[in-house]
Amino acid sequence: MIAEEIRRGGPLPLDRFMTLALHHPTHGYYRTRDPLGAGGDFVTAPELSQAFGEVIGAWLARAWLDLGQPTPFRLVELGPGRGTLLEDVLRATRRVPGFHDGLRLHLVETGEPLRAIQATRLAGRHVGWHAGLAEVPPGPLLLLANEFFDALPVHQLVGSARGWSERCVALGDDGRLEFRLAAAASPLGAQLPEATRGAVAEVSPARSELARAIGGRIADDGGVALVIDYGAWAEGPTGDTLQATRGHAPCDPLDAPGSADLTTHVDFRALAQAARDGGAAVYGPVPQGTFLSSLGIHLRTAKLLEQAAPAQRRQLRAALFRLTDASAMGELFKVLALGHPTAPAPPGFAAPTLRPC
Ligand code: SAH
Repeated sequence: MIAEEIRRGGPLPLDRFMTLALHHPTHGYYRTRDPLGAGGDFVTAPELSQAFGEVIGAWLARAWLDLGQPTPFRLVELGPGRGTLLEDVLRATRRVPGFHDGLRLHLVETGEPLRAIQATRLAGRHVGWHAGLAEVPPGPLLLLANEFFDALPVHQLVGSARGWSERCVALGDDGRLEFRLAAAASPLGAQLPEATRGAVAEVSPARSELARAIGGRIADDGGVALVIDYGAWAEGPTGDTLQATRGHAPCDPLDAPGSADLTTHVDFRALAQAARDGGAAVYGPVPQGTFLSSLGIHLRTAKLLEQAAPAQRRQLRAALFRLTDASAMGELFKVLALGHPTAPAPPGFAAPTLRPC
């Protein structure tokens, strides 16, 4: 189908290729499988240790109390995977008076196989599933997005004497997919600094649009959002961060599209600016290790260790290391929070990095 689209209309910008490979209604990667866990393609933080979701549950409860305990409120998760983070959040917040009475659960998920797993994990609760944030009814918002923004499509622009040209997916003479630079300069280059030869910049209108929408809802209805992902605050062009993963190993992104996960690092600067433009105050990003430590993940893990069997103990310690150590996920993963411009800083954050003008 990708080859057919290229034959009809010419090479595809990377964002179109990513959209087809990940979200094609019948053949897209996320539409056809559960990609998570040991038998899948990658493992995420909530799948490593229950302590991750539990301390985030505590963060949400604190944020809700600071908001003045609005009831009802929308607990929204973007891309909830297997529902593990939500399950841990719900267990950790069980004894917070009024929290469960007030919460309305909204899951933004396009994959049928994952929706089915989420339904099983959250059985007995009233859950709304949505294809996008726009479908979630208005109201005060507590929003979580862990490893969600990295899956949204990007354009890649490459610097040349002509300016910034789009890197596209084309069909080679042998009929295989290959990368090719568009001949003309791209209008997306207008938002970038002057092109230097060979530099690569990733630009994601899809991410910015969503961040702006989240910022707008928080400004209108109140609430907080927590975005956790790998990436950095880009001071210049981001570089090429496209990666494909199959069976826990890197693979060629153009090989067998639809059968491998495709992601790029999140440019937190672009995300923060879009959320600020939407009307939210932006906090961080702070490294995941620092954030989880400040929320007490070491104490929580120590408590879990007291009652764990030896094999579980090894697992809990290894997970704590992976989640927090700078050599693993502790530095590469960042945490960004959004809040209402007049509300106090959410727990774990100091003064805002950006405020609406
Ligand atoms: N947050 C989970 C899963 C991360 S994988 C965890 O940490 O374990 C990415 C998730 O986002 C999956 O649930 C995938 O189906 C969903 N997803 C990716 N792109 C999406 C999109 N454009 N719209 C809705 N859901 C999407």
